[in-house]
Amino acid sequence: MEESKERLVMPGEEVGTHEEWMPGEGTYEANGIIYAKTFGRLEYDEEKLEATVKAFNPVTEVKEGDIIYGTIRERRKAIATADIALVEGSSRGIAMDMEATLHISKISDDYTENIEDKYLKGDVIRAKVTQTTPSIQITTMDKDLGVVRGYCFKCRRGMERTGDTLFCGYCDRRESRKISNLYGRITLKSK
Ligand SMILES: [Zn+2]
Repeated sequence: MEESKERLVMPGEEVGTHEEWMPGEGTYEANGIIYAKTFGRLEYDEEKLEATVKAFNPVTEVKEGDIIYGTIRERRKAIATADIALVEGSSRGIAMDMEATLHISKISDDYTENIEDKYLKGDVIRAKVTQTTPSIQITTMDKDLGVVRGYCFKCRRGMERTGDTLFCGYCDRRESRKISNLYGRITLKSK
């Protein structure tokens, strides 16, 4: 396998199996598969036989128009908040405590009644920055914005997209989300 190229990963992305590697910093193991716990750079330590995900160097800036990746932190009545992890097309990482706000009216082209129907805590989203001061505001209205990796509410396994919903084969469970049309097809690049 070719591992010399830098690989950036997002939370929940599979990075190896228990037969090949030990789960190191920034990873976790479930059922013999090793997954990334955070956004970061994937590294394999050939000596310790360890897979690790190293967090990005923190910087503190995003610009209006940037496409960002992050995870949903919290849902309130009219807003959701997300932790920004990465700016697309840039090697600028973001301090993990940089928070963006998504207003309920900016979630989707369609009217959103309940944020609970669109996002769940821990979902990985792709969003666009619409404002940076006094606070960072994002939108997921475009077709290619929204959830790019979603996790089952019950078992936390990654879900498959089936039409307008996400499906967990393990729990035989369907959940609604604002799904990006890039769902399951994103490979993070550093430049
Ligand atoms: Zn499940």
